[in-house]
Amino acid sequence: MDKKKKDVRALTKDQLRDFFVKQGDKAFRGNQVYEWLWQKGAHSFEDMTNISLETRQMLQEHFVINHIRVDQMQRSEDGTIKNAVRLHDDLIVESVLIPTSTRTTACVSSQVGCSLDCKFCATSRLKRMRNLNPDEIYDQVVAIDNESRLYHNRPLSNIVFMGMGEPLMNYNNVLKAIDKITSDEGLGMSPKRITVSTSGVPKMIKKMADEEVKFNLAVSLHSAIDEVRTSIMPFNATFPLKDLRESLEHWYAKTKKRITYEYVVWDGINDTDKDIDALIEFCKFAPSKVNLIEYNPIDDGDFQQASNESIDRYISKLEANHITVTVRRSRGKDIDAACGQLANKT
Ligand code: SF4
Repeated sequence: MDKKKKDVRALTKDQLRDFFVKQGDKAFRGNQVYEWLWQKGAHSFEDMTNISLETRQMLQEHFVINHIRVDQMQRSEDGTIKNAVRLHDDLIVESVLIPTSTRTTACVSSQVGCSLDCKFCATSRLKRMRNLNPDEIYDQVVAIDNESRLYHNRPLSNIVFMGMGEPLMNYNNVLKAIDKITSDEGLGMSPKRITVSTSGVPKMIKKMADEEVKFNLAVSLHSAIDEVRTSIMPFNATFPLKDLRESLEHWYAKTKKRITYEYVVWDGINDTDKDIDALIEFCKFAPSKVNLIEYNPIDDGDFQQASNESIDRYISKLEANHITVTVRRSRGKDIDAACGQLANKT
Protein backbone atom coordinates (compact mmCIF):
# COMPACT_ATOMS: atom_id res chain seq x y z
CA MET A 1 0.00 0.00 0.00
CA ASP A 2 1.16 3.55 -0.74
CA LYS A 3 0.96 5.30 2.63
CA LYS A 4 1.03 8.83 1.13
CA LYS A 5 -2.08 8.32 -0.91
CA LYS A 6 -5.51 8.38 0.60
CA ASP A 7 -8.13 5.72 -0.08
CA VAL A 8 -10.51 7.48 -2.46
CA ARG A 9 -13.44 5.58 -0.95
CA ALA A 10 -12.95 7.37 2.37
CA LEU A 11 -14.34 10.47 0.60
CA THR A 12 -18.04 11.30 0.62
CA LYS A 13 -19.67 12.21 -2.65
CA ASP A 14 -19.54 15.91 -1.75
CA GLN A 15 -15.84 15.68 -0.91
CA LEU A 16 -15.19 14.02 -4.24
CA ARG A 17 -17.15 16.71 -6.06
CA ASP A 18 -15.15 19.41 -4.20
CA PHE A 19 -11.92 17.67 -5.14
CA PHE A 20 -12.74 17.91 -8.83
CA VAL A 21 -13.75 21.55 -8.56
CA LYS A 22 -10.39 22.30 -6.88
CA GLN A 23 -8.67 20.53 -9.76
CA GLY A 24 -10.44 22.87 -12.19
CA ASP A 25 -12.84 20.20 -13.40
CA LYS A 26 -16.63 19.94 -13.10
CA ALA A 27 -18.26 18.78 -9.84
CA PHE A 28 -20.24 16.30 -11.92
CA ARG A 29 -17.01 14.33 -12.49
CA GLY A 30 -17.16 13.49 -8.76
CA ASN A 31 -20.57 11.88 -9.27
CA GLN A 32 -19.24 9.74 -12.09
CA VAL A 33 -16.26 8.54 -10.08
CA TYR A 34 -18.45 7.93 -7.04
CA GLU A 35 -20.76 5.77 -9.13
CA TRP A 36 -17.82 3.74 -10.38
CA LEU A 37 -16.55 3.24 -6.86
CA TRP A 38 -19.80 2.19 -5.20
CA GLN A 39 -22.40 1.07 -7.71
CA LYS A 40 -20.10 -0.42 -10.30
CA GLY A 41 -17.56 -1.73 -7.77
CA ALA A 42 -14.46 -0.56 -9.70
CA HIS A 43 -11.25 -2.09 -8.36
CA SER A 44 -8.96 0.30 -10.21
CA PHE A 45 -9.08 3.72 -11.87
CA GLU A 46 -8.44 2.02 -15.21
CA ASP A 47 -11.87 0.38 -14.94
CA MET A 48 -13.54 3.82 -15.18
CA THR A 49 -13.92 3.78 -18.91
CA ASN A 50 -16.07 6.91 -19.33
CA ILE A 51 -13.44 9.03 -17.51
CA SER A 52 -10.64 10.47 -19.64
CA LEU A 53 -7.21 8.90 -19.43
CA GLU A 54 -5.78 12.17 -18.16
CA THR A 55 -8.28 12.32 -15.30
CA ARG A 56 -7.70 8.69 -14.40
CA GLN A 57 -3.96 9.34 -14.23
CA MET A 58 -4.57 12.38 -12.03
CA LEU A 59 -6.71 10.24 -9.69
CA GLN A 60 -3.97 7.63 -9.61
CA GLU A 61 -1.49 10.28 -8.48
CA HIS A 62 -3.68 11.32 -5.55
CA PHE A 63 -5.48 8.21 -4.40
CA VAL A 64 -5.55 4.45 -4.08
CA ILE A 65 -8.53 2.09 -4.06
CA ASN A 66 -8.01 -0.30 -1.18
CA HIS A 67 -10.36 -2.99 -2.34
CA ILE A 68 -10.54 -6.28 -0.47
CA ARG A 69 -9.48 -9.46 -2.25
CA VAL A 70 -11.13 -12.83 -1.72
CA ASP A 71 -8.00 -14.93 -1.24
CA GLN A 72 -9.73 -18.22 -0.79
CA MET A 73 -13.32 -19.37 -1.15
CA GLN A 74 -14.45 -22.66 0.37
CA ARG A 75 -17.79 -24.29 -0.40
CA SER A 76 -19.45 -26.58 2.10
CA GLU A 77 -21.47 -29.61 1.08
CA ASP A 78 -24.58 -27.82 2.43
CA GLY A 79 -24.04 -24.83 0.08
CA THR A 80 -22.45 -22.54 2.68
CA ILE A 81 -19.53 -20.50 1.34
CA LYS A 82 -16.69 -19.11 3.42
CA ASN A 83 -14.43 -16.35 2.11
CA ALA A 84 -10.99 -15.62 3.47
CA VAL A 85 -10.67 -11.93 2.67
CA ARG A 86 -7.31 -10.19 2.36
CA LEU A 87 -7.23 -6.51 3.32
CA HIS A 88 -4.90 -3.89 1.87
CA ASP A 89 -2.44 -4.39 4.77
CA ASP A 90 -2.45 -8.17 4.27
CA LEU A 91 -4.56 -8.91 7.33
CA ILE A 92 -7.26 -11.53 6.82
CA VAL A 93 -10.89 -11.68 7.94
CA GLU A 94 -13.61 -14.16 7.09
CA SER A 95 -17.17 -13.83 5.88
CA VAL A 96 -19.79 -16.46 5.18
CA LEU A 97 -22.75 -16.96 2.83
CA ILE A 98 -25.51 -19.09 4.34
CA PRO A 99 -28.20 -20.22 1.87
CA THR A 100 -31.56 -21.66 2.93
CA SER A 101 -34.64 -22.38 0.84
CA THR A 102 -36.06 -18.93 1.54
CA ARG A 103 -33.09 -16.63 1.95
CA THR A 104 -29.36 -16.14 1.47
CA THR A 105 -27.64 -14.50 4.40
CA ALA A 106 -24.22 -12.88 4.56
CA CYS A 107 -22.43 -13.13 7.89
CA VAL A 108 -19.79 -10.40 7.86
CA SER A 109 -16.86 -9.40 10.07
CA SER A 110 -16.45 -6.00 11.68
CA GLN A 111 -12.97 -6.28 13.24
CA VAL A 112 -9.75 -8.15 12.53
CA GLY A 113 -9.74 -10.51 15.51
CA CYS A 114 -11.86 -9.46 18.48
CA SER A 115 -11.37 -7.29 21.55
CA LEU A 116 -13.65 -9.52 23.63
CA ASP A 117 -12.85 -12.89 25.08
CA CYS A 118 -15.79 -15.28 24.89
CA LYS A 119 -14.43 -18.64 25.99
CA PHE A 120 -16.41 -20.68 23.47
CA CYS A 121 -15.40 -18.65 20.40
CA ALA A 122 -12.45 -19.36 18.11
CA THR A 123 -12.16 -15.70 17.08
CA SER A 124 -11.41 -14.68 20.68
CA ARG A 125 -8.05 -16.42 20.33
CA LEU A 126 -7.00 -13.94 17.68
CA LYS A 127 -5.74 -10.68 19.06
CA ARG A 128 -7.76 -7.68 17.91
CA MET A 129 -5.55 -6.09 15.27
CA ARG A 130 -7.79 -3.29 14.08
CA ASN A 131 -11.28 -2.22 13.18
CA LEU A 132 -12.49 -2.68 9.63
CA ASN A 133 -13.21 0.43 7.56
CA PRO A 134 -16.72 0.98 6.21
CA ASP A 135 -15.60 0.05 2.69
CA GLU A 136 -13.99 -3.20 3.90
CA ILE A 137 -17.30 -4.18 5.48
CA TYR A 138 -19.21 -3.11 2.38
CA ASP A 139 -16.87 -5.06 0.09
CA GLN A 140 -17.48 -8.29 2.03
CA VAL A 141 -21.21 -7.87 1.38
CA VAL A 142 -20.67 -7.17 -2.33
CA ALA A 143 -18.42 -10.24 -2.68
CA ILE A 144 -21.05 -12.44 -1.04
CA ASP A 145 -23.86 -10.92 -3.10
CA ASN A 146 -21.90 -11.81 -6.25
CA GLU A 147 -21.35 -15.37 -5.02
CA SER A 148 -25.01 -15.71 -4.11
CA ARG A 149 -26.01 -14.72 -7.66
CA LEU A 150 -23.39 -17.01 -9.19
CA TYR A 151 -23.86 -20.16 -7.11
CA HIS A 152 -27.45 -19.84 -5.87
CA ASN A 153 -29.05 -17.80 -8.69
CA ARG A 154 -30.46 -15.15 -6.39
CA PRO A 155 -29.21 -11.97 -4.77
CA LEU A 156 -28.29 -11.75 -1.15
CA SER A 157 -31.41 -11.26 0.99
CA ASN A 158 -30.11 -10.71 4.54
CA ILE A 159 -27.01 -9.58 6.40
CA VAL A 160 -25.94 -10.39 9.95
CA PHE A 161 -23.01 -8.74 11.69
CA MET A 162 -22.00 -11.94 13.41
CA GLY A 163 -18.61 -12.72 11.90
CA MET A 164 -15.30 -11.79 13.47
CA GLY A 165 -15.36 -8.97 15.98
CA GLU A 166 -17.81 -7.10 18.17
CA PRO A 167 -19.66 -4.67 15.86
CA LEU A 168 -20.51 -2.20 18.62
CA MET A 169 -16.79 -1.81 19.36
CA ASN A 170 -16.51 -0.48 15.80
CA TYR A 171 -19.76 1.42 15.90
CA ASN A 172 -19.13 4.35 13.56
CA ASN A 173 -17.67 2.26 10.75
CA VAL A 174 -20.42 -0.38 11.03
CA LEU A 175 -23.07 2.31 10.80
CA LYS A 176 -21.34 3.97 7.85
CA ALA A 177 -21.19 0.61 6.07
CA ILE A 178 -24.89 0.00 6.74
CA ASP A 179 -25.69 3.47 5.38
CA LYS A 180 -23.88 2.56 2.19
CA ILE A 181 -25.46 -0.92 1.96
CA THR A 182 -28.95 0.54 2.36
CA SER A 183 -28.51 3.64 0.20
CA ASP A 184 -29.63 3.73 -3.42
CA GLU A 185 -26.08 4.68 -4.32
CA GLY A 186 -24.88 1.44 -2.75
CA LEU A 187 -26.82 -1.81 -2.69
CA GLY A 188 -30.24 -0.39 -1.86
CA MET A 189 -31.01 -3.13 0.68
CA SER A 190 -33.72 -2.65 3.27
CA PRO A 191 -32.38 -2.11 6.81
CA LYS A 192 -35.08 -4.53 7.98
CA ARG A 193 -32.97 -7.27 6.42
CA ILE A 194 -29.90 -6.35 8.45
CA THR A 195 -29.17 -7.56 11.99
CA VAL A 196 -26.38 -6.29 14.19
CA SER A 197 -25.47 -8.96 16.71
CA THR A 198 -23.71 -7.82 19.86
CA SER A 199 -22.36 -9.48 22.94
CA GLY A 200 -23.93 -6.60 24.81
CA VAL A 201 -22.27 -3.21 25.13
CA PRO A 202 -24.94 -1.26 27.05
CA LYS A 203 -23.73 2.25 26.25
CA MET A 204 -23.69 1.55 22.52
CA ILE A 205 -27.10 -0.17 22.55
CA LYS A 206 -28.52 3.00 24.09
CA LYS A 207 -26.75 5.13 21.50
CA MET A 208 -28.20 3.04 18.66
CA ALA A 209 -31.65 3.40 20.17
CA ASP A 210 -31.24 7.17 20.48
CA GLU A 211 -30.16 7.36 16.84
CA GLU A 212 -33.33 5.45 15.91
CA VAL A 213 -31.56 3.01 13.64
CA LYS A 214 -33.80 0.94 11.39
CA PHE A 215 -31.94 -2.38 11.45
CA ASN A 216 -32.51 -5.24 13.90
CA LEU A 217 -30.70 -6.04 17.10
CA ALA A 218 -29.60 -9.45 18.34
CA VAL A 219 -27.84 -10.08 21.63
CA SER A 220 -25.54 -13.05 22.22
CA LEU A 221 -26.79 -13.77 25.70
CA HIS A 222 -26.01 -17.42 26.51
CA SER A 223 -26.86 -16.93 30.18
CA ALA A 224 -29.06 -14.60 32.21
CA ILE A 225 -27.18 -15.36 35.43
CA ASP A 226 -24.21 -13.05 36.03
CA GLU A 227 -21.90 -15.68 37.53
CA VAL A 228 -22.46 -18.10 34.67
CA ARG A 229 -22.26 -15.43 31.98
CA THR A 230 -19.05 -13.98 33.39
CA SER A 231 -17.48 -17.44 33.44
CA ILE A 232 -18.08 -17.88 29.69
CA MET A 233 -18.02 -14.22 28.60
CA PRO A 234 -15.59 -12.52 31.01
CA PHE A 235 -16.41 -8.97 29.83
CA ASN A 236 -19.79 -9.48 31.53
CA ALA A 237 -17.97 -8.48 34.72
CA THR A 238 -17.60 -5.00 33.18
CA PHE A 239 -21.03 -4.90 31.51
CA PRO A 240 -23.24 -6.90 33.92
CA LEU A 241 -26.72 -8.13 33.05
CA LYS A 242 -28.43 -5.36 34.99
CA ASP A 243 -26.83 -2.73 32.71
CA LEU A 244 -27.48 -4.81 29.61
CA ARG A 245 -31.14 -5.23 30.54
CA GLU A 246 -31.50 -1.50 31.21
CA SER A 247 -30.03 -0.68 27.80
CA LEU A 248 -32.41 -3.15 26.13
CA GLU A 249 -35.38 -1.60 27.91
CA HIS A 250 -34.23 1.73 26.47
CA TRP A 251 -33.88 0.13 23.00
CA TYR A 252 -37.39 -1.25 23.13
CA ALA A 253 -38.90 1.98 24.48
CA LYS A 254 -37.34 3.90 21.57
CA THR A 255 -37.66 1.47 18.67
CA LYS A 256 -40.55 -0.87 19.62
CA LYS A 257 -38.56 -3.56 17.83
CA ARG A 258 -38.50 -7.15 18.96
CA ILE A 259 -35.20 -8.26 20.48
CA THR A 260 -33.52 -11.48 19.38
CA TYR A 261 -31.34 -13.39 21.81
CA GLU A 262 -28.70 -15.81 20.54
CA TYR A 263 -28.33 -18.62 22.99
CA VAL A 264 -26.27 -21.82 23.05
CA VAL A 265 -27.12 -24.46 25.65
CA TRP A 266 -24.04 -26.27 26.92
CA ASP A 267 -23.90 -29.44 28.94
CA GLY A 268 -23.30 -28.69 32.64
CA ILE A 269 -23.02 -24.91 32.07
CA ASN A 270 -26.48 -23.46 31.44
CA ASP A 271 -28.81 -26.45 31.11
CA THR A 272 -30.77 -26.36 34.39
CA ASP A 273 -34.28 -25.08 35.14
CA LYS A 274 -32.68 -22.23 37.05
CA ASP A 275 -30.94 -21.12 33.83
CA ILE A 276 -34.18 -21.30 31.86
CA ASP A 277 -36.16 -19.36 34.48
CA ALA A 278 -33.48 -16.65 34.56
CA LEU A 279 -33.66 -16.32 30.77
CA ILE A 280 -37.44 -15.96 30.85
CA GLU A 281 -37.21 -13.36 33.60
CA PHE A 282 -34.54 -11.46 31.65
CA CYS A 283 -36.34 -11.21 28.33
CA LYS A 284 -40.04 -11.11 29.13
CA PHE A 285 -40.17 -7.30 29.45
CA ALA A 286 -40.39 -6.90 25.64
CA PRO A 287 -41.39 -9.02 22.62
CA SER A 288 -38.48 -11.40 22.26
CA LYS A 289 -37.23 -14.24 20.17
CA VAL A 290 -34.70 -16.75 21.46
CA ASN A 291 -32.54 -18.46 18.83
CA LEU A 292 -31.23 -21.67 20.33
CA ILE A 293 -28.06 -22.25 18.33
CA GLU A 294 -26.44 -25.60 17.84
CA TYR A 295 -22.92 -25.51 19.24
CA ASN A 296 -19.92 -26.03 17.00
CA PRO A 297 -17.06 -27.41 18.99
CA ILE A 298 -13.75 -25.61 18.60
CA ASP A 299 -10.62 -27.60 19.29
CA ASP A 300 -10.76 -27.95 23.07
CA GLY A 301 -13.36 -30.01 24.92
CA ASP A 302 -14.50 -27.49 27.56
CA PHE A 303 -17.84 -26.86 25.88
CA GLN A 304 -20.20 -29.62 24.82
CA GLN A 305 -23.62 -29.25 23.28
CA ALA A 306 -26.38 -30.00 25.85
CA SER A 307 -28.69 -32.99 25.44
CA ASN A 308 -31.84 -32.87 23.30
CA GLU A 309 -33.87 -33.18 26.50
CA SER A 310 -32.33 -29.97 27.85
CA ILE A 311 -33.04 -28.14 24.59
CA ASP A 312 -36.64 -29.44 24.64
CA ARG A 313 -37.09 -28.15 28.20
CA TYR A 314 -35.88 -24.72 27.07
CA ILE A 315 -38.33 -24.76 24.16
CA SER A 316 -41.38 -25.78 26.15
CA LYS A 317 -40.77 -23.40 29.05
CA LEU A 318 -40.05 -20.42 26.76
CA GLU A 319 -43.13 -21.15 24.66
CA ALA A 320 -45.26 -21.51 27.78
CA ASN A 321 -44.16 -17.95 28.59
CA HIS A 322 -45.08 -16.67 25.12
CA ILE A 323 -41.48 -16.20 24.02
CA THR A 324 -40.82 -17.15 20.39
CA VAL A 325 -38.16 -19.86 20.07
CA THR A 326 -36.29 -21.08 17.02
CA VAL A 327 -33.65 -23.77 16.90
CA ARG A 328 -30.88 -22.88 14.50
CA ARG A 329 -29.03 -25.79 13.01
CA SER A 330 -25.41 -25.23 12.34
CA ARG A 331 -24.24 -24.64 8.77
CA GLY A 332 -20.88 -25.03 7.07
CA LYS A 333 -19.31 -27.03 9.91
CA ASP A 334 -17.12 -29.00 7.47
CA ILE A 335 -15.33 -25.79 6.44
CA ASP A 336 -15.19 -24.19 9.94
CA ALA A 337 -17.71 -21.56 8.83
CA ALA A 338 -20.26 -22.10 11.57
CA CYS A 339 -20.95 -19.66 14.41
CA GLY A 340 -17.97 -19.21 16.70
CA GLN A 341 -15.60 -21.09 14.38
CA LEU A 342 -14.12 -18.19 12.40
CA ALA A 343 -10.42 -18.15 13.17
CA ASN A 344 -8.51 -17.80 9.91
CA LYS A 345 -7.67 -21.47 9.78
CA THR A 346 -7.66 -21.60 6.00
S1 SF4 B 1 -18.38 -14.39 20.22
FE1 SF4 B 1 -18.22 -12.45 19.08
S2 SF4 B 1 -17.72 -10.95 20.70
FE2 SF4 B 1 -17.28 -12.97 21.59
S3 SF4 B 1 -15.08 -13.27 21.15
FE3 SF4 B 1 -16.26 -14.22 19.46
S4 SF4 B 1 -16.30 -12.62 17.86
FE4 SF4 B 1 -15.78 -11.61 19.82
